[in-house]
Parts: sequence; structure tokens; C-alpha cells
Amino acid sequence: MQTVYVNGDYLPKDEAKISVFDRAFLFADAVYEVTSVIGGKLVDFAGHMARLHRSLGELDIEPPVSDDEMLDIHRRLVAENAIEEGMIYLQVTRGTADRDFLFPEKDVRPNLVLFAQAKSLIDNPFVERGQKIVSMEDLRWRRCDIKTTQLLYASWAKSLAHADGADDAWLVRDGFITEGTSNNAYIVKEDGTIVTRQLSEDVLSGITRSAVLECARQLQMKVEERPFTVEEAKAAAEAFSTSASSFVNPVVEIDGSTIGNGAPGPVARRLREIYLEKSRAAAI
Ligand code: PMP
Repeated sequence: MQTVYVNGDYLPKDEAKISVFDRAFLFADAVYEVTSVIGGKLVDFAGHMARLHRSLGELDIEPPVSDDEMLDIHRRLVAENAIEEGMIYLQVTRGTADRDFLFPEKDVRPNLVLFAQAKSLIDNPFVERGQKIVSMEDLRWRRCDIKTTQLLYASWAKSLAHADGADDAWLVRDGFITEGTSNNAYIVKEDGTIVTRQLSEDVLSGITRSAVLECARQLQMKVEERPFTVEEAKAAAEAFSTSASSFVNPVVEIDGSTIGNGAPGPVARRLREIYLEKSRAAAI
């Protein structure tokens, strides 16, 4: 039976409940993090905590527990749910209050929910066959740097991509790709230079993005942080995406155009290997 954490209690899945007046349910007034688990250990926990604090700070929500307590909760969920490989999902909501657009007074306490999901992450069919991407207008709100649970457009875009026979969507704002529905987007030029959009309010600052760019720089690969277009992606030597649960995930097609020779490229493969090697070694 799955064990879920709710505000201090470890409960069987069916008993884990939050009020219908929770502001996440009514307004998507909540932030979240997803930390991957490899070999029963947490990957880049500190990075996820740093981003959580930033998201909470931007929205003026108090952290409900300390980082040490958060680590204990993560570890207990890994143990109780016997997670060898998978994810820990964490959500902090502004709390439960009468429905009102105005943020409630400070005496309303945030709600904290975490659960574990077992999932095969390292063995992923995309590593061999690559993802097919379609581009779509980026219709999300303008603060994509805050990791809120306002995921309807991202979820819709991914579903539309699937209906179109693709695996995911890359979102386009003012003619340039911002990111994927739940991942950062990259292309590799013919000369081996990795291109990914610079950080701003248009994209989420991926924890995997920062680790992978560091791997790339250590491997003396050239990195350009700048916007790129769908046309540039079509003409690229290779492409890939990154996220905590997919690591480095090759892309072989965009809008029906084959990228490179249509197979996952060597840069994505190498970065995935190095990222996994480092993550395993540093996991806690
Ligand atoms: N962009 C978006 C929109 C995302 O939802 C995610 C994953 N949550 C990412 C990028 C990748 O971030 P991370 O590497 O921290 O998982």
C-alpha cells in the first residue's frame, strides 16, 4: 500500500486527504518539486530545495518545514514505499481558506503533501529511439520561472502532441522555443555547440539543466545560452531535453523534420552517461 505524507502524518493512500477549500484546488495556488530516486537515493536534493525556497519566496508562502525535516520526509517515503528507482513529488499550497481571490491572512498555514512513485527512469525507450516533438504556441502565464502547479496548458499541449503522433511539445513564444512541456530544450549545432535558452521568466530553471550544462563545460563542450527557432532546431545535428525524471532525453524529430540522421546523437548520449554517473555518486 502506498504511503503518503500529509501535514505531519504518514497515511495509507486512501486516507491521504486535503480540503476542497485548499487554495491549490481552487486557484492552483501552490508550488511543487519532483526529486528523482536512483538506487534508493535522492538526486540533487539540495538543488530542489533551493528552487523550492525561491518559488515559495516569489509567492510569499512560508516554508512549512525545515530542509532537514524535508529530507527526513523524503527518506522515510523512499523507505516506506520501497523505492529503488522513481520520484518523490512534493507540493506546498498556500493553505485552506474561504474562497477569495485575495491571498488569505498570514495565520493560514501552508499544506504540505508528498508522495512517492516507483518508475523505471534509467531504462527509457527514448534513449534508443528518441522523442518526436511538435512545436506549439507557448500560452502559459508569464512567470514560468516559478514552479507552480498551474500545469493545465503544459498538460494540454503534451496531450495534443500525443494526439498528433508525437511524444511531447516544445513551446514557442515570439518565434523562439522556450522549453518543453515539462523539460528544458536543447539543440546541438554541426560544430558540437550546445544551444539552450537563457534563464529568464520564460523558462523554469531546471535542476537537471544546471547539472548537465556543468557536465558539458567540464567536457570542454561549447555552450550558448540564447533563444533558438524551430527552423534552427530542424537544421541541428541533434537535439535533446532534460528533466529530473528523464535526465538527458534525445529528440530526433521536430514538426515532422528529421534531426541529424534521425537517431539519438552522441552529445546527448555522452551527457546522459556522465550526468547519471555523477548523480549516482552524489545522491544522498
Ligand atoms: N521546464 C518545465 C516547464 C518543467 O516542468 C520541468 C520539470 N519540472 C523542467 C523544465 C525541468 O526541470 P528539472 O530539471 O528541475 O526537472
